[in-house]
Amino acid sequence: DKEYVGFATLPNQVHRKSVKKGFDFTLMVAGESGLGKSTLVNSLFLTDMYRDRKLLNAEERITQTVEITKHVVDIEEKGVKLRLTIVDTPGFGDAVNNTECWKPVADYIDQQFEQYFRDESGLNRKNIQDNRVHCCIYFISPFGHGLRPLDVEFMRALHQRVNIVPVLAKADTLTPAEVERMKNKIREEIDHYGIRIYQFPECDSDEDEEFKLQDQALKESIPFAVIGSNTVVEAKGRRVRGRLYPWGIVEVENPSHCDFVKLRTMLVRTHMQDLKDVTRETH
Ligand code: GDP
Ligand code: MG
Repeated sequence: DKEYVGFATLPNQVHRKSVKKGFDFTLMVAGESGLGKSTLVNSLFLTDMYRDRKLLNAEERITQTVEITKHVVDIEEKGVKLRLTIVDTPGFGDAVNNTECWKPVADYIDQQFEQYFRDESGLNRKNIQDNRVHCCIYFISPFGHGLRPLDVEFMRALHQRVNIVPVLAKADTLTPAEVERMKNKIREEIDHYGIRIYQFPECDSDEDEEFKLQDQALKESIPFAVIGSNTVVEAKGRRVRGRLYPWGIVEVENPSHCDFVKLRTMLVRTHMQDLKDVTRETH
């Protein structure tokens, strides 16, 4: 029972030609430190991105991220190749002075656009590597009362540069009612402060009803409530990725526990191509 990330359906999203070459996708994670950014990307792609670090076990291996780091993983599923780049950013909040903590991240994104532009205007246009950041998952703390001033500042500094997908981090620390309340508050504030997050494209009118309902559910889940874990636990005889508590088990991939599967489905199965198109055409 090999696990799949699910991007083998990508050929439906694009032209056949890209299938042979494989896909490039760059995903960035940003937000306050300690919110589970590094853990979540590991959980998302079922790979230990940090395996080259010489420490004992997976849990320990994720040490604090102190500078912008790039991890490239090549994954292949059912004959479809994906070259995935994860850009991990140092979380802010640790420093005494957090003024312009978004600056290095914004600069990094700009540099990738500039590099791509230079390559595109150069002589060897055939084998350009696209390192532009196609999506930024922005982590919001579950311990506050909505967005913090830094969150607003950070997202506003980035929203013209990159597709921002906001997530409510560590959703296992909240009750379902609290999750709903926080989501509503965050949505209101995103609106109030004029933050332009990634807009899901309108559904084609000729899509079937089931697809439309799924699409609607996806849009209404923003910000996705997520839970990350690098450990496999046993729940009712099944081995699942989860977090173990004295009162029970939180399953990362259980849709009634959090929106993890929705986030992953949207990133790799349904909206990867749109995220790339918007990056190219708008950002
Ligand atoms: P980062 O600084 O944002 O990259 O955060 P890390 O991924 O390094 O995680 C910080 C700590 O939070 C670690 O001890 C993780 O095991 C823990 N953690 C990560 N994700 C979750 C989650 O979804 N829920 C809970 N309760 N803890 C988490
Ligand atoms: Mg980290």
